[in-house]
Amino acid sequence: MPHFPHDFAKISMILSRTVDALLTNLHKDYFKGLKIGFVPTMGALHDGHASLVRRSVEENDRTVVSIYVNPTQFGAGEDLDTYPRTLEKDSEILQAAGADYIFAPDDSIMYPGGKEQREVLMSLRSMDQILCGAKRPGHFNGVLIVVSKLLNIVRPHRAYFGEKDFQQVAIIRQLVKELFFPTEVIGCPIIRESDGLAMSSRNMYLKGEYREQALFLSRALDKVRELAKEGTPVRELEKTVADMADQYSLIELDYFNIRSSSGLRPLDTLAIKDEPRAIIAAFCGKTRLIDNKAIFS
Ligand code: AMP
Repeated sequence: MPHFPHDFAKISMILSRTVDALLTNLHKDYFKGLKIGFVPTMGALHDGHASLVRRSVEENDRTVVSIYVNPTQFGAGEDLDTYPRTLEKDSEILQAAGADYIFAPDDSIMYPGGKEQREVLMSLRSMDQILCGAKRPGHFNGVLIVVSKLLNIVRPHRAYFGEKDFQQVAIIRQLVKELFFPTEVIGCPIIRESDGLAMSSRNMYLKGEYREQALFLSRALDKVRELAKEGTPVRELEKTVADMADQYSLIELDYFNIRSSSGLRPLDTLAIKDEPRAIIAAFCGKTRLIDNKAIFS
């Protein structure tokens, strides 16, 4: 008897550039009652992204991955134009991770009303003006808009986000709860390089000494965890991080904060019940990097 693969639908992924093209295929899956997992990305994929896709593949019947560099979440002077675009390599990574659909729209699909449409304002008052929201005005406004659009298009049962963007996951959980999106939000652990640097598409910008000094972020977080476990007060931890940043000539600390995991409340004292999270952002040359770690784990 000839040997056939078990599941023909998974032999190759389907790449869609338009909403209609994606839904033509996806609707068939819905009608079969299949569970849909969704992983939104901006492409330039690495193993951090692949870990989300693998988790979705494990937990769902079909996995959709979007690749879209969303202009509305970039501020003036940020790296929208130079953000790496590597669709061919991304497709290989997604194929290996077991994705079923790639949705790679362009701006005319995602913002059909043009520039004016981009002025739709979405905000979650309590959470999008702090931390990265304070440093990148309008950033989470753009994230809320594009994630809402993507969730409305894909209508996934589950959507997967990395804890690398800790504030983003918290914000999206709140968005989904407040607006009753019928999607379960799943936060996934940070994947790191072997030396501790959190994987990021922006790491492609880091060469030579910049790559070396980028280790400041994970090292500072490790130091904070160590000192916090010895009972060092929060104010002193903040000072330690600022002093440490001064020792790295290519690093400019953007912020360092310790927040509760739920609600991202500022914490003056550290208690296990708050699941305190140390959150950091720093420029390494022109490249803005972020990272975070649980204080107690
Ligand atoms: P991006 O393409 O940077 O918008 O990221 C797409 C998704 O991948 C987001 O949910 C990120 O939090 C997640 N992600 C990015 N880097 C990592 C990483 N190192 N580990 C886990 N998830 C990640």
